[in-house]
Amino acid sequence: MDNRIYNVAIIGYGGMGNYHVKLIDPVPQIAVIGVYDIVDYRMESGKEAGFKTYESLNAVLDDKAVDVILIATPNDAHKEIAIKALQAGKHVICEKPVTISSGDLLDIVKVADKEKRIFTVHQNRRWDDDYRIARELIDKGTIGELLHVESRVQGANGIPGDWRQLKAHGGGMLLDWGVHLLDQLLQITDSPIESVAATLSYVLGTEVDDGFTSHIKFNDGLTAVIEVGTTNYVTLPRWYIKGTEGTALIKDWDLNGEIIIRNADAAHTEPKPIQAGQGLTKTMAPPSEESTLSIAIEKPAPAAESFYENFVSIIEGRAEPAIKNEEVHRVLVLIETIFEAAEHQQVIRRSI
Ligand code: NAD
Repeated sequence: MDNRIYNVAIIGYGGMGNYHVKLIDPVPQIAVIGVYDIVDYRMESGKEAGFKTYESLNAVLDDKAVDVILIATPNDAHKEIAIKALQAGKHVICEKPVTISSGDLLDIVKVADKEKRIFTVHQNRRWDDDYRIARELIDKGTIGELLHVESRVQGANGIPGDWRQLKAHGGGMLLDWGVHLLDQLLQITDSPIESVAATLSYVLGTEVDDGFTSHIKFNDGLTAVIEVGTTNYVTLPRWYIKGTEGTALIKDWDLNGEIIIRNADAAHTEPKPIQAGQGLTKTMAPPSEESTLSIAIEKPAPAAESFYENFVSIIEGRAEPAIKNEEVHRVLVLIETIFEAAEHQQVIRRSI
């Protein structure tokens, strides 16, 4: 096993640039040595943290001690920095959304292939516990055959008051949070997408979307609702997943919720009518306790490899990328289709 240390320089030392220092720290084969930002006080804070700082992006790329460039700038700057870094012989990790268009990603991948350097994207929410639980219960067939998935994140704080509100910087919630939720969805089934319908939300009056709702249908019959909101004072659950044998509700990132499945051993019991508002109903009565089983939601075991452990394994040729560029590209094509469906107020029938 290769024991060398891969030195990282961070381009864009803001919120996420700082967070990557924490992510890299526990992985012994990789270390942050330098930072570059166009804003002085960010560079000052990099210096205070003990990192090398640079005069310019070119100065970073000229530094032979740097093996890896981590891009954590606003979205519109990713492409140019990625291509320059690859051409300078560096491996590149890029924050999500990797680029604003799917074509831009292909341009980067072409350069990475030519330069024989690693290019990978930090679509980190594949490591989230709520997603890993959803994935496991789907993969294991705990709730039977998968019929319908609803995946949402909602907040009441609007879009942060920075570049995320500006179109030119690749702002808006579809590109910001949409990437994560759509990436997770596409991991859940192997089926191609058949059609997409969507609406974008502009409650806040910004030039970019402050949220969206998308309805996605897959060839295998699976339907999904993916939704992001920033003007929701009361929120809907993070996940609602329906299968032929049960339903799972994962309410939040703290993993509150419930999984209820049909008790295959119980004799059939007729539902009893309940008072519902001003009427009676059997149809909408909850299932009897004997006819169902409740499964506790448990925190999953730690993932086999963290994002950065996987990155080191890729560089050393010991593993496939956890996040494949083809998968990242498919998410961007889906995002473009959601924009198109919303703009034309049409269901787009397209195999994705
Ligand atoms: P931020 O505004 O906090 O930080 C961005 C930094 O980049 C700022 O310090 C800015 O001065 C600097 N910058 C701008 N243009 C630059 C350039 N050309 N060269 C060098 N530095 C430049 O933003 P953030 O929240 O850290 O977001 C950065 C990136 O990380 C975005 O792509 C965002 O989508 C992504 N992000 C990912 C996650 C995640 O969970 N994966 C979370 C938050 C942000």
